[in-house]
Amino acid sequence: MNYFSTRDKSLKFSFKDIFLRGLAPGGGLFLPSEIKKYDKGDLNRLSQLSYKDLATEIIFNFCSNEINKDELNFLIDKSYKSFTVKEVVKLKKIGEINLLELYHGPTLAFKDIAMQIIGNMYDHLQVAKKKIVNVVVATSGDTGSAAIAALSNRKNINLFVLHPHNKISETQRKIMTTIGGPNIYNVAIEGSFDDCQKIIKELFNEDTFRTKINMSGVNSINWARIICQIVYYFYSYFKLKKENISFSVPTGNFGDIYAGYIAKKMGLPINKLIVATNKNDILQRVINTGEYKPDRVQPSITPSMDIQVASNFERLLFYIMDENDNKVVSLMDELSLKGSFNLKKNEIEKIKKDFEGIKITDEETKNIINKIFKDHQFIIDPHTATGVGAANKVKNLKNIIVLGTAHPYKFNDTTKKVTGKNLEAPEHLKMYLNKIEKFDIIGNSNSDVKNYILSKIQ
Ligand SMILES: *Cc1c(COP(=O)(O)O)cnc(C)c1O
Repeated sequence: MNYFSTRDKSLKFSFKDIFLRGLAPGGGLFLPSEIKKYDKGDLNRLSQLSYKDLATEIIFNFCSNEINKDELNFLIDKSYKSFTVKEVVKLKKIGEINLLELYHGPTLAFKDIAMQIIGNMYDHLQVAKKKIVNVVVATSGDTGSAAIAALSNRKNINLFVLHPHNKISETQRKIMTTIGGPNIYNVAIEGSFDDCQKIIKELFNEDTFRTKINMSGVNSINWARIICQIVYYFYSYFKLKKENISFSVPTGNFGDIYAGYIAKKMGLPINKLIVATNKNDILQRVINTGEYKPDRVQPSITPSMDIQVASNFERLLFYIMDENDNKVVSLMDELSLKGSFNLKKNEIEKIKKDFEGIKITDEETKNIINKIFKDHQFIIDPHTATGVGAANKVKNLKNIIVLGTAHPYKFNDTTKKVTGKNLEAPEHLKMYLNKIEKFDIIGNSNSDVKNYILSKIQ
């Protein structure tokens, strides 16, 4: 099995290559040449497994040329040792809601689930054996801290994390800027997340710079993240023990929900995937109207979803366009020339077969947090609340699992305002909260970032 690009099917890359590169040459995203399809008997067998063994089975399909199964199992086991629940995730019933808590990792968001494995893969694949690797990542608040927790103090690896200055929550920033070792550089960009992501994509496409610094990426466009996230769709499906299950997913860059789409392609009988967006609702609009048109980012109380260029959507487009790479290229060209593209009616229908798109406003999000607190004395974070809101609004679906994407403590500023209750920091984070924050503020441009990186590694 190998990997090709959404914009060029003739390319052939190994798992190790795509793991290291993140983004395909020419700006496309990597996809695997084969997707394993499980039948009923397989699903039955998988349903008996522990989370870690299930993760081994699923992830192995995508990297079997480079890692043997026992090694992978060992690596996964090691990756999840720092989680505060043994089975990594937890499915809870809160009233009528099936809540899948994905936030019991070291930095309190679902990003840890993939990032801890990725950190260990860097060592295992020995990508930094001969030459220092410089990992560069953009974050809307949670990827950064998860990447730092995964890569801090690793030999021969530096990590540069770009976050939008003053546009993430205080706790998000505090965790991110205090937990890292000397190989970690936090950079606040005077712009939005989309600006950070754009700069990173540009740097990946500048061959000279990318080669010069031996650059690698761990953003949600990295396929390795998607495959780690497929696992909890299977796991929670098996745990709920119902038919006709749908998932409601707080969505920004379309990575987490895309993992659900791949789970469905692998044979998991998911009914619908509900895309919950905040007021930055490009995905809700494209699903319901066919128009993909990035707008200016508006700050919200769900900063990790304040994204207008949902990069992983290109991976869905590839399948919607019947795997025609030329069509993907022309849509992407149209997007960069005209600032938007429109899908045809039959293409929208295809998306709607698997997806629902629902927008939840900040006001609705607050009301949901408040209501769940009043009814069940349980606090959910604002992102998770958009998932609950979308599940409530959607018509004619039952057995919905809502992905709980962040621990409420990470957004204590908002949950406290809404519920009046102040949450305490989880034990393993308390020691960091009084540490001095370490980050630099730089301008919103490609060259500012390049100069910054070069000044730190020379
Ligand atoms: C990253 C993130 C999201 C959005 O996930 P995508 O994969 O970008 O769609 C939602 N909620 C939280 C808390 C996040 O950290």
